[in-house]
Amino acid sequence: MSYQAPLKDMRFVLRELAGLEEVAKLPGYQDATPDTVDAILEEASKFASEVLDPINFSGDREGSKYADGAVRTPKGFQDAYRKFCEGGWNALPFETEWGGQGLPRLVSTPVQEMWKSSNMSFSLCPLLTQGAIEALLLRGSDSLKKAYLPNMVGGKWTGTMNLTEPQAGSDLAMVRTKAERAGDHYLVSGQKIFITYGEHDLAENIVHLVLARTPEAPEGVKGISLFIVPKLVLNKDGTPGKRNTARCASIEHKLGIHASPTAVMVYDKAVGYLVGEENRGLETMFIMMNAARFAVGLEGVAIAERAFQRALAFAKERLQGRDLVGGGAAVPIIRHPDVRRMLMLMKSQAEAMRALAYTTAAALDFAYKTKSKTHQAFVDLMIPVVKGWCTETGIEVASLGVQVHGGMGFVEETGAAQYLRDARITTIYEGTTGIQAMDLVGRKIAREGGATAKAWTAELKKLDGQLGAHPEIRKALADGVKAVDECVDFIVGAKDPRVQFAGAVPFLKLMGIVAGGWQMARSALAAARGTGDDSFDKAKIATVRFYADHVLVQAPGLRNTVVNGAAGVMALTEDQFLAA
Ligand SMILES: Cc1cc2nc3c(=O)[nH]c(=O)nc-3n(C[C@H](O)[C@H](O)[C@H](O)COP(=O)(O)OP(=O)(O)OC[C@H]3O[C@@H](n4cnc5c(N)ncnc54)[C@H](O)[C@@H]3O)c2cc1C
Repeated sequence: MSYQAPLKDMRFVLRELAGLEEVAKLPGYQDATPDTVDAILEEASKFASEVLDPINFSGDREGSKYADGAVRTPKGFQDAYRKFCEGGWNALPFETEWGGQGLPRLVSTPVQEMWKSSNMSFSLCPLLTQGAIEALLLRGSDSLKKAYLPNMVGGKWTGTMNLTEPQAGSDLAMVRTKAERAGDHYLVSGQKIFITYGEHDLAENIVHLVLARTPEAPEGVKGISLFIVPKLVLNKDGTPGKRNTARCASIEHKLGIHASPTAVMVYDKAVGYLVGEENRGLETMFIMMNAARFAVGLEGVAIAERAFQRALAFAKERLQGRDLVGGGAAVPIIRHPDVRRMLMLMKSQAEAMRALAYTTAAALDFAYKTKSKTHQAFVDLMIPVVKGWCTETGIEVASLGVQVHGGMGFVEETGAAQYLRDARITTIYEGTTGIQAMDLVGRKIAREGGATAKAWTAELKKLDGQLGAHPEIRKALADGVKAVDECVDFIVGAKDPRVQFAGAVPFLKLMGIVAGGWQMARSALAAARGTGDDSFDKAKIATVRFYADHVLVQAPGLRNTVVNGAAGVMALTEDQFLAA
C-alpha cells in the first residue's frame, strides 16, 4: 500500500486554518500563491510516493552498514538523494540569496511532512543539513557562509549537529570536547555519540557543527562554543581537499530508523572554524532549537498519517467476524465499531496535530518577517507542545496501527511495525518529552507568570460563541480551556519546583490535546461554512466530533493529575521503589 499525501487535508489546513493567504502577503513570500503552492504539493507528493516510499521498507530491512570508517546507505538511497537535490527539494526552505527558493515555512512544512511520512530515515539527512544551514545563517561569518552555504543549500554537501557526548545528553553543560586555537582556525578533539548522518555515501562532503570548549572557557553552559568541522577541509579555491582528522568510529544498532546512520564521531585535532563568538555556542543552538524541535514534532504528525493510511487499507481488506446487525459472511474489519474507533482515533489525532503544526509554522513565518513579539511568544509557547505532544501521540497512533493489523501488525512483513519502531526515537532526540515539558512549565509559563498562555486561552474562549451548532465540541473545548487556565494558575503559584515539574508531562499533554481541540473546533466551523467539497466537510465535522468525545474530554482528568499528582510522584524514597 503506497503512501498518498493527504493533499485535501493539507490544503484545507493551509487555507482555512493557518492563513496561507496572509502569509503570502509578508515581504518576500509573494510567490506563495495558491496555484504555486498547489503545484509544489502535487510534485512533492509524487516524489514521496514514487521515490521515497518504495525504499522505506527495504531501507529498514537492509539498514546502513559500517566498514573501515565508511558508511554505505541502503540500496536506492544514493539515487533518491541525487533526484531529491536535482528536483530542488533540498533548497526549498532557504533564502534565494543562497540558492534557495525563499518559500515560507508554512509551505515547506507540508512538503517536509511528506518526506517524513514516506521515509523518515531518508528525511533525517536534509533535516540535519537544514539545522546546520540555519546555524550558519544565524551566526556564521560572511566568509564561512560563502564557503559552505551554496553547496549545503543545494544538497551537494550535507550537515550534522554534534551536541551529544557519552556524559552529556540532556545536560549539555557537561560537554567536554576541546577546541584549541591554531592561527585562523581551531583544532577540535573529543568524542561525539549518536550523530545522525555523521558519515554516509550520499554527498561529496559532510559539514559537522560541533559544540566544544576552548581552554580558557568557563565551566557549564556559558563556556561552550560552536565550530564547523568539515569532513574534507576546503582548498583555497573552495573545493573539498584533504581528509580532516574527523572520523566515524562506528554506527549504532537501533530499534528503528535503520537506514539513518547514527554515528560515533571521533575528532583528533580536526580543523575547525568558530561559528559566532567563543562561549556563545549554546545560545546559537538554543535559537535554532525552535526550528529543529518543530521539525521533530512534524515527524510525529507524519508517522501518524502513514500508520493510519496503512491501517485503513488493511481494515478494508481483512475479512473477519460477522456484521453486528446483518450477520452473514465474514466482513472487512472496518465494519466493526471497535476497529472504526481505532481508525478514528488515528485519523482525528493526525488531523489535529497537522492543524496545530501548520498553524505554528505560520506563526514562525510572521515572527520571522515582522519581528512581532506576539507571534514569537506564541511560537515559543507552542514549540515544546508541537514537539512533545505530536511525537508522543505519533507513537500512540503507530501503536494503534499495529493493533488494527492484529497479529499481522506484530510481524514485520506488513510494515506497520516499522512505523512504531521508527516513531519511538521522536520523543527522545532533540530533547526528550520530559525536557520539553520542563521547558514549557519553567521557561514558557512560570517565568512569565503565565501571560502568553493566558492570552492564548483568551483567544480560545472567543470561539465559544461560534460553536452553538456543535454543543459537544463546544462543551469539551470549554472544559479543556478551563483545565489549562487552572493548571497555569497552579504552576505559577507553586513555590516548590518539584511540584511544578512532577506534573509537567501531563500538563504538556493537556496543552496538546486542547491546542489540537482548538484547531479542530476551527476546522468544524470552516467545514460548516463549506469548502466546496461536501463529502470532505461532512467527514471533517464528524471527525472533530469524535475528537471532542474521545480525546478532548481527557482534559479535566489531566488537570487533576497536574494539580494533585505531585504527592504520589514524590512519595517514595529511592529504596521503596523496589520493595524486594
Ligand atoms: C537515533 C538517535 C539520533 C540522534 N541524533 C543526534 C544528533 O544528530 N546529534 C546529537 O547531538 N545528538 C543526537 N542524539 C542524541 C539525543 O539528542 C539524546 O539521546 C537525547 O538528548 C537524550 O540524551 P541522553 O540519551 O543522554 O539521555 P539522558 O539525558 O541521560 O536522559 C535519560 C532520561 O532522564 C531524563 N532526564 C534527564 N535529565 C533530566 C532532568 N533534568 N529532569 C528530568 N528528567 C531528566 C530524560 O528525559 C530521559 O528520560 C540522537 C540520539 C539517537 C538515539
